[in-house]
Amino acid sequence: MASTKPPAERPLPLGPPVQKLLVCPCCGAALRGEDFSLVCTESGCSTVFPVIGGIPILINEHTSMFRIASYRQQASPAALRYLALKTLAKKLLPGLGGNLAARRNFRRFGALLLIANPRPNVLVVGGAQVGAGMAEFLRDSRIEFVETDICFGPRTRLVCDARDLPFADNSFDGVVIQAVLEYVADPERCVEEIYRVLKSEGIVYSEAPFMQQVHARSDFTRFTALGHRRLYRRFAEISSGVTGGPGMALAWSLRHFLLSFVDSRWARDSVKVLTSCLFFWLKYFDLFLAHTRSGRDAACGTYFLGRKSPQTLADRELLGLYQGAITGEGIL
Ligand SMILES: [Zn+2]
Repeated sequence: MASTKPPAERPLPLGPPVQKLLVCPCCGAALRGEDFSLVCTESGCSTVFPVIGGIPILINEHTSMFRIASYRQQASPAALRYLALKTLAKKLLPGLGGNLAARRNFRRFGALLLIANPRPNVLVVGGAQVGAGMAEFLRDSRIEFVETDICFGPRTRLVCDARDLPFADNSFDGVVIQAVLEYVADPERCVEEIYRVLKSEGIVYSEAPFMQQVHARSDFTRFTALGHRRLYRRFAEISSGVTGGPGMALAWSLRHFLLSFVDSRWARDSVKVLTSCLFFWLKYFDLFLAHTRSGRDAACGTYFLGRKSPQTLADRELLGLYQGAITGEGIL
């Protein structure tokens, strides 16, 4: 991945508490640290994983869409300037979306973790940047965060693919996966991995998009609220709901309707700037619409907070959990 300049190779700075949780993402065996790499100790595997700028690249190349060699490539200066310009524009322009629930949910998540363990550890999947509503949670010094991502970023401590998490079973008190599941080719497998690395009764906080257009090259899947719940059927629900409502979904639809007329990068960027200025106010409808039953059926995205459970929710039970506005047996 060449989204930002990869740092120079140097030894691993991860603390011992994190290092002892690491395993080979290919075979699950222990890893041995060498000067600029981690090496699988299983003789039949012996895969070597580079450590670039202190960040281990723990990718299983047999199953991942990503290649370890790509992490050694440097982005061109022009690409880095373009990225900086886009980041600045995002900061200056009014956003079409927002997150109505994350801050409150992270407070609850943190409180639940601290009840069970005074020094909990939390795996953040897709944590290269600070996620929406997450800044206060990340400042809690009682919690140890292990921020992973598939790309380098200001907070990436370890590069891995959520399909094969390089951690031992029962490693974490909590896992955060916020707006990541749409980018993984096999979200079911990803949730199996979250289940595996969580301790008994560990807690997951998940956010996933529903009414949103394609917003990355590796964008595969959308989830209704029930679809999101089914993904976590081996978890007991603590709470669930809407992160963005129909107002945000409409703003994104209007942007993408206008984007459909143009294909060049600069024309698309111009449409994005124009639509940010024209339609940002639609999100304020969600202060009301995110709480209606019909609004839930048209949500921009949903969240799920749940606890690892020995029981599996049956598909038959799912229909009873529907909280939208459609009644009877009708399709619409
Ligand atoms: Zn191995």
